[in-house]
Amino acid sequence: MPVIPLLDSQEIARILDRLASQVLERHAQCDQVMLVGIERRGADLARRLAALLGDRLGRAVPLGSLDINLYRDDWTSLEGKPHIGQSCIPQGVDGRVVILVDDVLFTGRTIRAALEALLDYGRPSAVELLVLVDRGHRELPIQADYVGRTVNTSRQEHVDVLLTERDGQDAVRLAAP
Ligand code: 5GP
Ligand code: MG
Repeated sequence: MPVIPLLDSQEIARILDRLASQVLERHAQCDQVMLVGIERRGADLARRLAALLGDRLGRAVPLGSLDINLYRDDWTSLEGKPHIGQSCIPQGVDGRVVILVDDVLFTGRTIRAALEALLDYGRPSAVELLVLVDRGHRELPIQADYVGRTVNTSRQEHVDVLLTERDGQDAVRLAAP
């Protein structure tokens, strides 16, 4: 399987820095901002962003996670059914700007399910979406507010996202079938 490097660790670090700046451009003091990462690698990225924002603001930014599993017979099928797993939303979401964080945005079905799960916790004033990679092929009208890198992919390709916390290194690669 041919693998094409897309991002190295320095590029990922720069992108996360830029994404943190973009969040601060929209929400200067991040007063009402809560980051909610989609398990697993979205949650890792949310932790890193919370640390970057926390450093710049001099205080902790609220952080949570949602576990959304899509069971699909076929990654490209329309039949994927979301299963909501364990979630951790330690503080109320009422009136907050919740920024959902995920590693890869593809069809949009995970985010749709995440929105449904999140709204069970209350009524945020707004929900935004931040992703490291947008690989296209949306099946729902869902777009990210903050995008690390847009990558043109075929449906059969896969974007490998490696993060030090889990994989021992930071890298993003395109894996062709
Ligand atoms: P969607 O629900 O938008 O089809 O897919 C997004 C979810 O599936 C994300 O949580 C993401 O982790 C995972 N995903 C979809 N496509 C890819 C991909 O090419 N690479 C990786 N690493 N994850 C993907
Ligand atoms: Mg995922």
